[in-house]
Amino acid sequence: MTNFDNYINGEWVGSGKRTPNINPSNVADVIGHFASATSEETEVAIQAAKAALPAWQSLGIQARSDMLRKAGELILERSAELGKLLAREEGKTLPEGIGEAGRAGHIFLFFAAEVLRVGGDILPSVRPGLDAMVEREPVGVVGLITPWNFPIAIPAWKVAPALAYGNTVVLKPAELVPGCAHAIAGILDEVGLPKGVFNLVCGKGSVVGEHFVNSQDVHAISFTGSVNTGRNIAAKCAATMKKFQLEMGGKNPLVILDDADLDIAVDCAVQGAFYSTGQRCTASSRLIVTEGIYDAFLNRMIEATSGLKVGDALDSETQIGPVVDQRQLDQDLRYINIAQEEGAKLVAGGKQISGETEGFYLEPTLFAETKNSMVINQEEVFGPVATIIKVKDYTEALAVANDTDFGLSSGICTSSLKYASDFRKNAKAGMVMVNLPTAGVDYHVPFGGTKGSSYGPREQGTYAREFYTTVKTSYIRSS
Ligand code: NAD
Repeated sequence: MTNFDNYINGEWVGSGKRTPNINPSNVADVIGHFASATSEETEVAIQAAKAALPAWQSLGIQARSDMLRKAGELILERSAELGKLLAREEGKTLPEGIGEAGRAGHIFLFFAAEVLRVGGDILPSVRPGLDAMVEREPVGVVGLITPWNFPIAIPAWKVAPALAYGNTVVLKPAELVPGCAHAIAGILDEVGLPKGVFNLVCGKGSVVGEHFVNSQDVHAISFTGSVNTGRNIAAKCAATMKKFQLEMGGKNPLVILDDADLDIAVDCAVQGAFYSTGQRCTASSRLIVTEGIYDAFLNRMIEATSGLKVGDALDSETQIGPVVDQRQLDQDLRYINIAQEEGAKLVAGGKQISGETEGFYLEPTLFAETKNSMVINQEEVFGPVATIIKVKDYTEALAVANDTDFGLSSGICTSSLKYASDFRKNAKAGMVMVNLPTAGVDYHVPFGGTKGSSYGPREQGTYAREFYTTVKTSYIRSS
C-alpha cells in the first residue's frame, strides 16, 4: 500500500500517524495512506514558511509568475489523470473531475498573469511639498484550510493567489481528499518553488487546522468549510488578531416563474440540485415555483430526477456519483427523515441504494409540498436532496428566496427582463444566476456570498488581492 507524505520545507516528510484515503464508489479501493501531522510537525511547516518569506518576497515578480505559469501548464497537461484521482477520492463523475482539474490549471495561469499587475497609487498630498504613495505588500505566512467537495479547485484558488502576491503557504486539505492537494504539492516541487514557500500539512482539523489558527506566526487564514467550523475559526482568529476569510454553506434558491422556458428550468434545477451529488455550497436546494407552472414543472422534475443514473464515479454512464462517505450519507438520510416527519411529500428517490461495488450511493431525492420554514428548507443538507416550494407570484418568490440565514448563490428562470433585473438587484446573495443553475461559476470573477455564507474579502479573480495583500501608505517630502 502506498504511503503519501507531507511536504515541508521542500522535503517529503512522513508522520507517525496515517489516514487511509478511501474511494466512496468502492470502499475496497484504498487510494493510499496519507500522513496525519501532529502539532509539532505542523509547527515545523509554519516555521519553514516563515523562514522562506523574505527571499520569496524579494525574488521578484517575473520568477513568481514563471513558476505559477509552469504549475498551471502541468496541471492542464495532467488534467485527465488528476480528474481521475479526484473522481476516485471524492466521488465526482470523471467529466466533473477532469473539468475541476482543468479549472485549477487555469486558476494558476490567471494568477501567473496577475502577479504582473499589482499596481499602486501616487497621489499629491493635501499638504504642500509632499507626495503620498499607496502600495500593496504580502500579508506573510498564510494558512489555507480547505473542504472535501472541491479537492483541487479550492486549494488552487487559495494557493495560487497567496503565492502570486508574495506570501508563503501552509495548506491543510480535508482529511477525506488529501490526494489532489498532494498532487499540487508535487507539481509545485517540480516547478522549482524555493524550499518552505509552499508546505502541505495533511491531518485533522482539530490538530493541524487549530494549530494554524492559534499560531502567532500565521498571519492570515483562508477557510472554506461548514458554518460551525468557520464560526469557531473566526473567534480564534480574532483572539490572535489575524486576518481571516471564511467561505461557508448555502441554502440556495432557484426561482421558477410562470413565464420560464420549462426545458431550461428543469435543466437548471436538475443540474443545480443533483450534479456533483448535490455536494456543492452553491447547490440549488430550494426550488421556488409559481402557481401557473407548478404542475408542469413538478411532473417534469419527478421524471428527470427518477431517470438520473447513480453509480461508480468512474463509470462513463454515471450521472450522479456516490456521497462522499458514511457520515455524510447518514446526514443526508437523517434530513430525508426529518423532511418526511415535517410533512414534506417525497416525490422521487429517498433511499440508499447498492451499486456493483460497496459504496455510499443515494437516490437523488425530491420533496414537494414543503414550506420554507421547515428544517429541510433552512439547514444545509449537502447531498442530492432538493425541495419544491409553491408560491403565488414573483413578489412572494423573492421574499421566500431571501428568507434564509445564507446568501451564497440565488437563481431565477424567467423570460421577463423586468423580473430578471429586479431579482438581480434584490436577491440577498453574493452571486445571482439568470436562466442558469445556481452552481457553476467562472474562475476570473469574484466568488462569495452574504449573511451566513461568507465573511471577509471575496475569493478569486482580481478581487483575491484584497485578502492576500495588505496596504502600505508612505509620505515623501518632495520639495
Ligand atoms: P468542515 O468545516 O468540516 O471542514 C473544512 C476544513 O476545516 C477541513 O479541512 C477540516 O479538517 C478543517 N477543520 C475542521 N475543524 C477544524 C478546526 N477546529 N480548526 C481548523 N480547521 C478545522 O467542512 P467540510 O465538511 O469539509 O465541507 C463541507 C462544507 O463546506 C459545507 O458546509 C459547504 O457548504 C462548505 N463549502 C463552502 C464553499 C464556499 O465557497 N462557500 C465551497 C465548498 C464547500
